[in-house]
Amino acid sequence: VTFADLGLSGPILQAVADSGYVTPTPIQEQAIPVVLMGRDVLGCAQTGTGKTAGFTLPMLDILASGKAKARMPRSLILEPTRELALQVAENFVKYGKHLSLTHALLIGGESMDEQRAVLEKGVDVLIATPGRLLDLFDRGRILLADVKVLVIDEADRMLDMGFIPDVERIVGFLPTIRQTLFFSATMAPEIRRLADAFLSNPKEISV
Ligand code: AMP
Repeated sequence: VTFADLGLSGPILQAVADSGYVTPTPIQEQAIPVVLMGRDVLGCAQTGTGKTAGFTLPMLDILASGKAKARMPRSLILEPTRELALQVAENFVKYGKHLSLTHALLIGGESMDEQRAVLEKGVDVLIATPGRLLDLFDRGRILLADVKVLVIDEADRMLDMGFIPDVERIVGFLPTIRQTLFFSATMAPEIRRLADAFLSNPKEISV
């Protein structure tokens, strides 16, 4: 199986080739066609499996083929830590280099003024930790009404760090008609409960 077989479009295949990837990893092979079809995903996968490209590549494809409405964010990626959010933002830039999509990285410990300035220009994708996202949302700096793809990454770490109430609040602000991609390294009962609440008829993928 090649990346082209998975249904990704030209500019994204080009970025994949530029990255030196030849073969999709198992999670990529299973997740990419399902995400492109518009289905929800419940993925049980650790870091290092290629999970980031597994959700970023098809998400970029969806964004590139859709129309932006006044540059309101159309995708939201939630990460438990600043470091993970930063890595995902780097991946987004790498895989999206032949597209003209924009993002905001909303993490604690960085200047709110800068994040606000980026948001004011309008972005396609928000990559955020829950606390900072809520902080900006509560100050009226973020519109979430146009989010069509939500990624909840590393749900087990969100749980360990006590972020689940924040995540639940954020999801409550999103349109109910959306695509949700949910990843966790483990599927403890509390994680299952969340997945049941957030996902609609998901395709389960375990690697
Ligand atoms: P991740 O699990 O998403 O953090 O990815 C782990 C590492 O694997 C990252 O450094 C990626 O750049 C790399 N990677 C992702 N997909 C592939 C692939 N299909 N072939 C080779 N390397 C990859």
